[in-house]
Amino acid sequence: MNTEQNSCGSEAGPDSAAAAHRHVDHARIQKAVREILLAVGEDPDREGLLETPARVARMYAELFSGLHEDPRVHLRQAFTEKYDEIVLVRDIAFNSVCEHHLLPFMGHAHIGYLPHGRVLGLSKLARVVESLSHRPQVQERMTEQIADLLVHDLGAKGVAVVVEASHTCMTVRGVRKPGSVCVTSAMKGIFRSNVSSRAEVMSLMFGSRQR
Ligand SMILES: [Zn+2]
Repeated sequence: MNTEQNSCGSEAGPDSAAAAHRHVDHARIQKAVREILLAVGEDPDREGLLETPARVARMYAELFSGLHEDPRVHLRQAFTEKYDEIVLVRDIAFNSVCEHHLLPFMGHAHIGYLPHGRVLGLSKLARVVESLSHRPQVQERMTEQIADLLVHDLGAKGVAVVVEASHTCMTVRGVRKPGSVCVTSAMKGIFRSNVSSRAEVMSLMFGSRQR
């Protein structure tokens, strides 16, 4: 058993941040934000809003930096290891942007896998989450994408991913239910087919948690 909490070096490195800014058309975002401000009846030329379009452009470059990155690069650094017990990393903090409203959702991902001869550096799991969360997303798809990547590119015998997140599109607008948490899960391989394996990974994930 191998667990690590809050392992995420979740800031993007300077290289990926620079790449994201290169790929994003800042001038176009600025123009669009100015249009939105006009459309809602604001004056984009008043002092407080003058820098807002440029700020929003820089923010989107950061929030959507994962669009310009292949998350599989983090799996190439897997190493051969005769370890055949569950590897689990829980409480990987992430923030993403709901593609339906372009509002943030944020929370934690818990990832467990059963290696098949290849093991991943623990921080790489956090990198995968980082990459897949920094794009317009829906939580259900992100959960599946993380699990699929570990099955196909790491060759894990089993993968269990649980994501818990709070969606600001549910808390600040619409039904306005602050405190609600959306939980999604994806079970692959042995964790899908074998009930006792699934029970084991779930108890490692949540066994010590006060409910
Ligand atoms: Zn939404």
